[in-house]
Amino acid sequence: MTQQRKVRVEIENVSLAYGATQVLRDVSINIEPGEFFALLGPSGSGKSTLLRMLAGFNQPQSGSIRVDGADITEVSPWQRDIGMVFQNYALWPHMTVAENVAFGLEERKLPRAEITRRTAAALELVGLATYGTRRPNQLSGGQQQRVAVARTIAIEPKVLLLDEPLSNLDAKLRVHMRTELLALQRKLGITTIFVTHDQEEALSIADRVAVLDAGVIQQVGTPTELYDRPVNRFIANFIGSINLLPGSVDTAKQFTSPLLGTRAVPVNATLIGDADLVLRPHAIQLAAPDAARPESLIWIDAAVKEREFLGEFMRYRVETAGHALTVDVPHFGSAGHAPGAAVKLGIDPAKATVLPAA
Ligand code: ADP
Repeated sequence: MTQQRKVRVEIENVSLAYGATQVLRDVSINIEPGEFFALLGPSGSGKSTLLRMLAGFNQPQSGSIRVDGADITEVSPWQRDIGMVFQNYALWPHMTVAENVAFGLEERKLPRAEITRRTAAALELVGLATYGTRRPNQLSGGQQQRVAVARTIAIEPKVLLLDEPLSNLDAKLRVHMRTELLALQRKLGITTIFVTHDQEEALSIADRVAVLDAGVIQQVGTPTELYDRPVNRFIANFIGSINLLPGSVDTAKQFTSPLLGTRAVPVNATLIGDADLVLRPHAIQLAAPDAARPESLIWIDAAVKEREFLGEFMRYRVETAGHALTVDVPHFGSAGHAPGAAVKLGIDPAKATVLPAA
């Protein structure tokens, strides 16, 4: 099983409603050839509906889907050349692993020798070459997942769809399997679209991510773009955690806030007027009032309310002028700052972005 020609997937202005429930609203996404692409969003946001639409299991009421330049909106699922791995794997319990993998090839009435060759190659690729005679119930969850993937790639689809591929696995295995899945995708070079509600999973393996909320695409970007330059409050909250400092941006692109005193934060935004400064918990420094402090940061007075030790870092809840903030400080064995302590918060203008006030 070698690298295939990589294809582009274009979703254009797709909408779908079930009765009065609008599930997808004017969704457009352009997925690059060979990309590992994630559809991310909270439960009920329309991710699975969109994935099933790519597979052909439901039809958009408007809009179109193109694969490799060809419009497939009206093409039936079995003629789409798209492979889908289901969340529950859907393996046949009465068949062996090899029979499960061969099933789709038999249905396509390929010559016997070709079926044997492709089945062996797919099992080899997922590291289960010696498991062909076992039954699914004699495999671990991770191995069953690999069989489901092998069964799908054996048909050599142009596009691979994965519905919450790792959600049935325990936490540790999930982290291991995502590296494995990415390695396999890279080896095959197949354009892959996967659905997940787990932001860490999406950020850690996808080339790009589309974030959906209530059937609307909120932002499409690389994991770092979503994290560093969220386009709205929903994304800022959904991807990681944030602090918001209320203030305003003037025509000279300076953010000011009573909380920051006289110092202004230069911002690279077209926005003018009421705004919130967005600060990640680890982008704020904490220092004792008498410690030496770099002048490149804006320092403000605060008090520690609570702290929580999370292993690699200490999470502080601090308060400044009645405003609560979360600050994460890497833990290197020092005692840190106790609740009640007065501290200085260091805000690095280079690490801040702004969003329009809600
Ligand atoms: P997600 O995968 O993001 O959790 P889904 O795509 O499964 O979301 O569902 C999106 C919305 O569409 C939900 O509100 C769900 O109840 C609704 N929905 C999905 N399928 C159907 C259906 N066949 N009939 C009616 N409503 C549906």
